[in-house]
Amino acid sequence: MARVYNFSAGPSMLPEAVLRTAQAELMEYGSSGQSVMEMSHRSPVFEAIIQETEASIRRVLNVPANYKIGFFQGGAHQQFSMVPLNFMTTGKADYMVTGNFSGVAAKEAAKYGDIRIAASSEDRNFTYIPDIASTEFRPDASYIHICHNNTIFGSVFNEVPQVDGVPLIADMSSNIMSRPVDVDKYGVIYFGVQKNIAPAGMAIAIVREDLLGHADPKTPIMMDYTKLLAKDSMLNTPNCWCIYMTGLVMKWLEQDIGGLENMQKLNEAKAKVLYDYLDSQDFFHNPVEKPYRSLMNVTFTSPSKEMDKLFCEQAAKAGFVNLKGHRLVGGMRASIYNAMPAAGVDALVDFMKEFVRTNG
Ligand SMILES: *Cc1c(COP(=O)(O)O)cnc(C)c1O
Repeated sequence: MARVYNFSAGPSMLPEAVLRTAQAELMEYGSSGQSVMEMSHRSPVFEAIIQETEASIRRVLNVPANYKIGFFQGGAHQQFSMVPLNFMTTGKADYMVTGNFSGVAAKEAAKYGDIRIAASSEDRNFTYIPDIASTEFRPDASYIHICHNNTIFGSVFNEVPQVDGVPLIADMSSNIMSRPVDVDKYGVIYFGVQKNIAPAGMAIAIVREDLLGHADPKTPIMMDYTKLLAKDSMLNTPNCWCIYMTGLVMKWLEQDIGGLENMQKLNEAKAKVLYDYLDSQDFFHNPVEKPYRSLMNVTFTSPSKEMDKLFCEQAAKAGFVNLKGHRLVGGMRASIYNAMPAAGVDALVDFMKEFVRTNG
């Protein structure tokens, strides 16, 4: 059996060391005599798991004491609805639309209030991030919403809006834990876990305490950050397995990688190999303007749709899977999250060179 290099945008690769630990602990976690999949979420052994998982997120991401961390079901899409229900206290919010998910989030929020698209990069098919300094935000907006890394289009914010008195809320589903974050700059950071953290089935939100307690009274109880956080994410049965896996990945980041500064260096080195190759030839083309290129999702096209298809087919046969681009962009996309080893990117570039030699 050989494990493939999986370039899926999500769910995606997990660190091999983490999978091995999960495998070793699958039948019996510690001396509990049970699998984490079987134990009561109210048991002391699971309480220790959830508390340590939360504490490790706080350490790894350097989350200040005035922020709460919660585990939510419903993925990032549920956060799109929770954000306006909980934080749109003035009836208005400003959204930057820089890709698919930020557009979906803005549309969802528009059900609940006055949403203004403060800036959009749709005019050039989301190949850049609009200039922050010249973007105007309403002073009475309840919050500003951005999607920090655009998973489908492969772009990322280098700087983020900072408006006095207007909290910034960011979807970081596809680049959280890939590098250090100044949590202080944000009112809320949320992310689905299936890209860079854990198996699918959960989202994590980091919420500044002063923003809690103002949810619309009709907010469903499971979508109320304040109510869930007041019960330490155990208002109902949480996604116990996902919380456990998140804890293992945080431990890997702390102990095997040595923290997010190191993770960033590794990610930069990996992405550089692929972008340097893309820039060195003219068979494949990356459409994103250079300053906004994502470290996590690298998009590229070949000269034709037929060639894209052939490339993906041959790549899959050679052990490089899930390289097909999203239908909104076409071509290919290599998602190279934290768990993708440098060797996987090196091998992909070798394969691309060989492909050009035989088909170019
Ligand atoms: C994958 C992704 C989502 C959607 O996540 P779900 O958990 O499937 O709802 C939202 N935003 C971003 C940035 C993503 O990468």
